[in-house]
Amino acid sequence: MEPDQRRSGRVDPASDRAATRPGLYDAVLLDRDGTLVEDVPYNGDPEKVRPVPGAREALHRLRAAGLRLGVVTNQSGLARGLFTADDLRRVNARVEELLGPFDTWQICPHDERAGCACRKPAPGLVHAAARALGTTPDRCALVGDIGADMTAAGAAGAAGILVPTPATRPAEVAAAPHVARDLLTAVAAILDRAALAAGPPSRPPRGRVLVVRSDSAGDVLVTGPAIRAVAAGAEGVVLLCGPRGRDAAALLPGVDELVEWPLPWIDGAPAPVEPADMRALTARLAGLAVDEAVVFSSFHQSPLPLALLLRMAGVARISAISDDYPGSLLDVRHRVPDGLPEPERALSLAVAAGFALPAGDDPRLRIRTDAVPPAPAGLGGPGYVVLHPGSAVQTRACPPELAARIVRVLTAAGHRVAVTGGPDETELTARVAGDAGIDLGGRTGLAELAAVLAGAGALVVGNTGPAHLAAALGVPVVSLFAPTVPYGQWGPYRVPAVRLGDAAAPCRDSRATVCPVPGHPCLSAIEPGRVLAAVRLLGVPATAPPATAPLTPAEPPPATGRPAVGGAQAGVTAVAATGGSAR
Ligand SMILES: [Zn+2]
Repeated sequence: MEPDQRRSGRVDPASDRAATRPGLYDAVLLDRDGTLVEDVPYNGDPEKVRPVPGAREALHRLRAAGLRLGVVTNQSGLARGLFTADDLRRVNARVEELLGPFDTWQICPHDERAGCACRKPAPGLVHAAARALGTTPDRCALVGDIGADMTAAGAAGAAGILVPTPATRPAEVAAAPHVARDLLTAVAAILDRAALAAGPPSRPPRGRVLVVRSDSAGDVLVTGPAIRAVAAGAEGVVLLCGPRGRDAAALLPGVDELVEWPLPWIDGAPAPVEPADMRALTARLAGLAVDEAVVFSSFHQSPLPLALLLRMAGVARISAISDDYPGSLLDVRHRVPDGLPEPERALSLAVAAGFALPAGDDPRLRIRTDAVPPAPAGLGGPGYVVLHPGSAVQTRACPPELAARIVRVLTAAGHRVAVTGGPDETELTARVAGDAGIDLGGRTGLAELAAVLAGAGALVVGNTGPAHLAAALGVPVVSLFAPTVPYGQWGPYRVPAVRLGDAAAPCRDSRATVCPVPGHPCLSAIEPGRVLAAVRLLGVPATAPPATAPLTPAEPPPATGRPAVGGAQAGVTAVAATGGSAR
């Protein structure tokens, strides 16, 4: 991918055009074989084209919603001489005859030995389709039936939805950001998500609004699009956050005033509830003189204790997501389906409360770049890789031994690697950086980390706040994602990303903060070579001559030599070894 696409959040003019349109998506891209039509290996015969059940209706619904449609398909049978270009044209014409027209066809004719940039799991077809449709990959959803489709979608920054077939491997299903049982269900999910995140146009601003997001930096950052929506419809925005989210809150656009207060029903290591503290908080809330409040929370948190204090403080209108019966505590009680990405879940609450993102503001994460200080010295020019090994939550940190090996492999391949960590992590960063990496341990608070990330080609990190900070800067992420929480909800949002780690590990969905499995196998089994392959898949060129084999910026992503990068992987078998992806 070209650098301007990687940074589409800042400089790509196509994204400005796209951002003038409302809603989540401009286009839906679909894999052909196994997704739109039954998979007939290397099919060159139009008579053998059979749409999957519901395909016609599913595509009709997407077209009726104003979404453009594209096909992204690997057709290596061409390179292998198993059918001719004419056969392929006739087969594709038959697909359109049965399913209606598509706005673009993007076809990789190569086999895996070609090392091209288009064969999925490489993201080239997704980039090409988005370009052909006048949009950007982050405004596309991609539906496919195997892990290579999901990896290509993720590496381009598109939203992947897997519709498994009997040929789809369980590990591919486990790693997918979203799974639907059939094409119609996938399309319904795309349209439902789009409807939840978009509201009627902004009305005249209606007073001062308190928004609330307690908990950590990552939680605050993923609430950013929702807070911008509120800001677009309010005369002033006050953000109530907790001590662990304060630094992130200070980076959010649209916030006029910050109030920091720990909430004992939210904090993971809460202090006892002190009646005097609650009275003081209530008085502070009353003193804010807000006209209404929107209380954001995760699905396992309750907004109701705060809603009670807000009522006691005289706040007239309160909105929140609550499955628990709120009685008269809430004016807008919003309900959402399970599995929404956290930024969309929060945005849907803002929409339900009557606030929508204005035209021109895409629902990606953002921070105030004016709040970012200069980067620390010693990094050289932009294009380095940042590795952030730590996390406040043990299960989400990259095991130090693995992190050190990743630094050695990346630097040997010609990448500059900066290792970041907080003041309490200097021992860790020194050990991880070793002789080869640039140790920035203790030199980066959240704002300084943003400054470092702003010049990075990619960030390698667990499921922790800095991943969302990178997403807010448009910087691609190699996500070493412990599956304790769902990737589709907490993975890097609307930014190119490659998922690594065993998505089917026994800790899956446990929400454990300390790994329950000896050896932390979901992350510690990651091969450092897969991190290097992921960095290449994300289009990050090496900045120095490698220690061993030559690698130039023009070298295509390793779609062939190491085909199992990312979402498709579960730490063992190569994607290209599966039946489905051999086309
Ligand atoms: Zn190709």
